[in-house]
Amino acid sequence: MSVLVTGGAGYIGSHMVLALRDAGERVVVLDNLSTGFRWAVPEDVPFVAGDTGDQALVSRLIAEHDVEAIIHFAASLVVPESVSRPLAYYKNNTANSRSMIECAVEGGVEHFIFSSTAAVYGNPARVPVGEDDAPAPMSPYGASKLMTETMLRDASAAHGLGHVILRYFNVAGADPALRIGQSTRDATHLIKVAVETALGLRPKMDVYGTDYPTRDGTCVRDYIHVTDLVAAHADALRHLRGGGASTTFNCGYGRGFSVLEVIETVKRVAGVDVRVDTAPRRPGDPAEIVASSDRIRARLGWQPRHDDLDEIVAHALAWQRKLSARGG
Ligand code: UDP
Repeated sequence: MSVLVTGGAGYIGSHMVLALRDAGERVVVLDNLSTGFRWAVPEDVPFVAGDTGDQALVSRLIAEHDVEAIIHFAASLVVPESVSRPLAYYKNNTANSRSMIECAVEGGVEHFIFSSTAAVYGNPARVPVGEDDAPAPMSPYGASKLMTETMLRDASAAHGLGHVILRYFNVAGADPALRIGQSTRDATHLIKVAVETALGLRPKMDVYGTDYPTRDGTCVRDYIHVTDLVAAHADALRHLRGGGASTTFNCGYGRGFSVLEVIETVKRVAGVDVRVDTAPRRPGDPAEIVASSDRIRARLGWQPRHDDLDEIVAHALAWQRKLSARGG
């Protein structure tokens, strides 16, 4: 029996593959390498280059590798890009996920873990936001993920596919042993951009919007270390294998940092200044989004080990230095 990881050559997926491999699981990766890297997957892990929307391929993989669980990371994930290219997001995130769920049901896969996002909440009515609070996405990205959540719940009710939906808040950092990290080209995510600027790979960076109704006028987010996020998936898999109920969980720490606070942290940890310009608000950005993480702690026994912005930034910096040194 094995675990199929889609998007296993990407940022979070590649950390998941290492964690599963460390735990002695059999793993197979499906990734179309649109944003991921072949080198991010260890040589001894079976790797298939292809699309999640290719049902013949996915069904064959499920049968050939006796797939017991699918962890479905493969997706497009940039909020402003989803505003300018919505149909690409509905295809990759919604239509291809529908196809993955169908293959899982038809292939007798027992467990399905889905990478959802805090973007399903939009601008939540209260912070920290809980899993039962009403979703109201502000971007096609959030909407594309929410649609998949709905399909997964309906398909599970009808066909008995056990599932866990994990709503990721803002993921950052790298494997503490620096075996892998975020290698995305032309990255748009705040910590990655700030780290690249601190290391001189960009001349300056922009702060998108300083007139939000927050403590310093910039957006507030809940930054979670990638290793803690991956641990949440391992906990979810254990839960499903133990007969646990299908559930939706927030993945965040329950405290937020503003854009300016993150940039200050990067400057301090890197020990350099970072040139920052003020820019207009970015489309699709909610002002403040912070997770209530009570449910995942209580029901999955999830225990974060890297809940420290300095550590997240230090690992992101260390990985970026390593990546740059090898020309990545
Ligand atoms: N942000 C910024 N400058 C950047 C990148 C991001 O000011 O170069 C802001 C962005 O507008 C948002 C926050 O940082 O308010 C987090 O954005 P990111 O893209 O990292 O994650 P998102 O919350 O959109 O998934």
